[in-house]
Parts: sequence; structure tokens; C-alpha cells
Amino acid sequence: MASSAEVVQPASELQPAAAPPLTPAWGGAGMAPVGPSLTPVSPWGRVSPAAPQSAPPKSFHELMSEDLAKDLQQKETQAYHLSLLNEEEDYSDFIKPQEEVANDLYLAQVLQYEYDREYDEQVNREEKLFNGNSKVSVSFNKFKICPSWYGPDSDDEPREIDDENRAIDSFEAREREDPVIPACGYIKHGDKMVTKHDLAISGRKNAARIMNLPPGINTGDGGGFDMKLSNKVYNKLCRSAMSDLRRKNRVHDKVEKATSEMALDPKTRLLIFKMLNNAVLEALNGIVSSGKEAVVFHAQGGEMDDGPLPEDCAVKVFKTTLTDFKTRERYIREDYRFKDRISKSNSQKLIRLWAEKEYHNLRRLHRAGIPSPKPVLIKKHILVMSFIGADHMPAPKLKEARLSKAELCVAYEQVVETMVKMFHGCHLVHADLSEYNILWFEEKCWFIDLGQAVEPTHPHALHFLHRDCTNIIRFFQSKGVPELPSPLKLFEQVSGISLPGPEDAAHRMIEEYETHQELWREGMNNLSDQFEFLWQEIQAEERQCKGLKKEDDDDEEEELEEELLKGTGGI
Ligand code: ADP
Ligand code: MN
Repeated sequence: MASSAEVVQPASELQPAAAPPLTPAWGGAGMAPVGPSLTPVSPWGRVSPAAPQSAPPKSFHELMSEDLAKDLQQKETQAYHLSLLNEEEDYSDFIKPQEEVANDLYLAQVLQYEYDREYDEQVNREEKLFNGNSKVSVSFNKFKICPSWYGPDSDDEPREIDDENRAIDSFEAREREDPVIPACGYIKHGDKMVTKHDLAISGRKNAARIMNLPPGINTGDGGGFDMKLSNKVYNKLCRSAMSDLRRKNRVHDKVEKATSEMALDPKTRLLIFKMLNNAVLEALNGIVSSGKEAVVFHAQGGEMDDGPLPEDCAVKVFKTTLTDFKTRERYIREDYRFKDRISKSNSQKLIRLWAEKEYHNLRRLHRAGIPSPKPVLIKKHILVMSFIGADHMPAPKLKEARLSKAELCVAYEQVVETMVKMFHGCHLVHADLSEYNILWFEEKCWFIDLGQAVEPTHPHALHFLHRDCTNIIRFFQSKGVPELPSPLKLFEQVSGISLPGPEDAAHRMIEEYETHQELWREGMNNLSDQFEFLWQEIQAEERQCKGLKKEDDDDEEEELEEELLKGTGGI
């Protein structure tokens, strides 16, 4: 484009050799005068004369030399090897052949790379085949040589390996500047003596070493600055990285085994995995008990926001199908005519409520100082509590424990004392008390299985209490404990309610008492009772949704289902 200066100058006045340099109207740097003798200048500086485009042609003698022939042969061989691999990619970027390294090594590296890639591709195919359309997918990542190749955008970022190399290169470059310490442990470097204990040098070495930790351990990008790690930090990092890795594998294997053995449903598996992932649990170990209503696992406690969990934990998983709920069904039918009247979603709610109920009941016992598992966490139908026992073995039930006569007497006294404490101190009747739900540990009785415990205001609480008393007296009688009262006398001792009449009239008397007492009638309407509350809720729901397909209104439930669909379980 012509400048304004050029436009005002008549063409005839232009004299190539003597013309003064043209100055633009704005007084800036002059236009580059065009002439054969002048070095061209631009407003940004002088333009250097162009370098010769190519080297002068070689002489015939040079062209015939052996060196050149060898050189050409070598290049051709290399090109041939690459073409054999049928690979357009240029490997030289990430596998840098050192000059002194033989071509064979380079080729071996390329082949190894190809082999690893193919191997991982095969694992990938098997992973896809294995998972099919399953909602919960099993990851084969740990079997891959380099899982990151198959990340979602690994194809777009093939230079990831480059970056890694660059980081390591920078470590190497810095290390190269450091003197190499001979076997004697010291060297004179410049004007000072350097020993193998030099902080900066060993720090750099440690920093470079962490780059060699197994894949999956995030070390961050230490290549961008002169990172130095003290031996202490390095060792700690290594230890935690290794234990992390071990934990991951161990947890994975054990959980897989335990949960698949018990055929736990995917929802339960996901919840347990979450607890392990959040490190609330360190590990899930074997099954301690598998009953009709619940499965109990031993677990190693981890950490929560408000502090560490007990070292040994029991994880009680309530079964989520009502058919497994045989014994408890009786309570429900008797009390609230639940039978055949609750939909699946309601039955799941009921089971969760049951787990929650056990959690709250255990809390009451614990607060009152009654030996019982310490409730730690409740997550839907999964209850985590402290483990009663040692070496992953639960303490024996009273039924199985071998107690001396003296110990049996102590145990009986303790059971009675606890029943009184439970009734008056915790406002609870166990309702399933027997030699099966009392563990013998550290010379005393521990009370477990509090799911069905009810408040004394429950319409049948006294009936349950009498049954508990009957079980206890029967057991200690069978063990030969002397001077035991009748169940009705024990009932009176525990509740403070005296019922005049013979033992065989106990049932009738209790029934009458329950029916006629104002207290119990109030209890019938007491919404604080959780089952009564649920019953009301279910009835209201049924009235509302009559004839309509019921939608699950539980947000958390939906959330869990969504996660399962997405397969975020990563099982
Ligand atoms: P179920 O409803 O199946 O009877 P329980 O709560 O009684 O459930 O637990 C079943 C078994 O699991 C118990 O008999 C006991 O052996 C074991 N168990 C339960 N909780 C614990 C715990 N906190 N510590 C140790 N063992 C436990
Ligand atoms: Mn039990």
C-alpha cells in the first residue's frame, strides 16, 4: 500500500540514487529507501541479509566417501524399521534415542511401547465384554500397563507421555549439575567439599525418585521448579503411597468377595463402597453373622469429620426384602396390621426405619452406661457400631459361652440390673431379649440387637417385657442358677408394676392392664413412637395415591438409583 508521502510526491521528481530518505507525515522512522547499495531497514530495525539457502554442493570425492554411505544406510534402516511397524507416528519425541545408544535399543523401545498398547487394548475389550450393559461396572484398570492411555481424551492428547518425560528431564538436568558423589561419600566440588548427605543434592534425588512411584499415585508436577524433598518427607510419602495402594487393592478384593458371597444388592454395595472411599471404613472384612434379617460384617474403622471410628467395627446390613423379615413381620401384623398392605417402597422405608431405630436405641443404652455396642453411623439400612469381640471374632453369645456357676450368677444379676436400667433409665423394653442377643465379653454381658426395642408406652411393651423375663428365667434356670424368681416376679421387679394373680394368668392380666390403662391408650396415639408414625404415613400415602402408580418420593433414593445407572460405583 502507498504511503501518504508517496502520494503527494510527483513521480518525475523521484531520483533513485540521490533522493533524500522519505519521511512520513507523522515524523516516524523513515521509509526504507530502496537501492542496491543500502542495507534494507524496517521500522522495527535492520533486516539482516538472507543466509545462504543451502550448503554448497559436495565434491565428487566427498560423495563417494564411506562415511556418507554408512550414514545414509543407517537412516534408511531406521526408516525401514518404522515402516515395518506401519506407524506414521513419530516416536522420536518421547523415546529419545541417545547418540551412543544402539538402534536395536531404540527399536526395542518402540516395540515394547506397541506391545503395551496392544495389551491394554485387549484388556479394554475384555472389560467392555465383562461389563456389558450392567449398571455397575467393574474396572479392569489395575490390569492395564498404562491405564491413562485410555482416558476419555487420551486420543486427543497423545503427548501426555512427553510431558512426563519433560518433567523427568528437568530433574535429570538439575541432577547433572550436581557433582557425582563417589563411594567414599564425599567430593570436592568447586571450592567446597560436598558429602552424600548434602541436603540440596539428596533433596533433589528424592524429588526425582517420587516420579518413579507406581502409576495411580499423584505426585503433582514437580518438574516445573527445583523441588527438594527431605528424607523424612520422602519416606513418609513413600509409606503412605504404598499403604494407599495396598489398601485400594485389599479393600477392592475383600469387598468384592464379601459382597458377592452374600449377594448383596447393588445399592448396599454402593453404600459400602462409599464408606470405604470416604475412608469412613478402612477395610471391610469377613462376615460375622448372616441371619434372616441382617448380615453383620467385621470392619476396620476409619475416620469421620468428628474423629476416628473405633478400631474394630461391626457393620450390620439389614436385608431390604420383606420376605426376609419373617420374625419382625409378626410385630408389624400384630401391632398395625401391616401384613400384605405395604408396597415395596414402603417396606424399604420400614427397614431403614428399623436400622435407624436400632441406632437410636443403642445410643440410649450407651448414654446410660449399659455395656452395648457404641453406635457410630447410620446410612439408610446400614448400621455401623463398635465391635464386641477380639481378633475379628465376635464375643460368644450367652447361649454358647462357657460360664462357671459363679459367673452365671454374676451374669444373671447384671441382666436384671440392665433390664431395670433400660426400662427406667432409657425408657426401653428390649423386646427380643434372650441368650442369643447377649454377648459375654470381658467378664460381663453386652446387650445387642436393639432394633425391635420399644418404649414402655408402646401398646404391647409390657407384653414384650414379660416375654423377655420368661426367656431370661428359662435360660438361667436351664443353667442351674439357684433361687430364681418367676417371670412374673421379675416383670414386677423390672417394671415396678405389680399384678396380683398366678403366673399362668400373667398374659391375661398384662393384656387387661394394657387395655385399661389410660397411659397405654394415650400411647396408642403417641406419634413419637416411630412405628405408629410410619403407619400413619403409609396410610396417608395410600389414601393419596389410591389407584395411581406410586412414585418413590425419596430424593436420596432417586439419587442413589441415578448413581447406579451411571455406574459410578466403579465396582
Ligand atoms: P440379628 O437380627 O441377625 O439377630 P444381631 O444384631 O443379633 O442381628 O447380630 C447377629 C450376630 O452378629 C450376633 O449374634 C453377633 O454374633 C454378631 N454381632 C452383631 N453385632 C455385633 C457387634 N457389635 N459386635 C460383635 N458382634 C456382633
Ligand atoms: Mn440377634
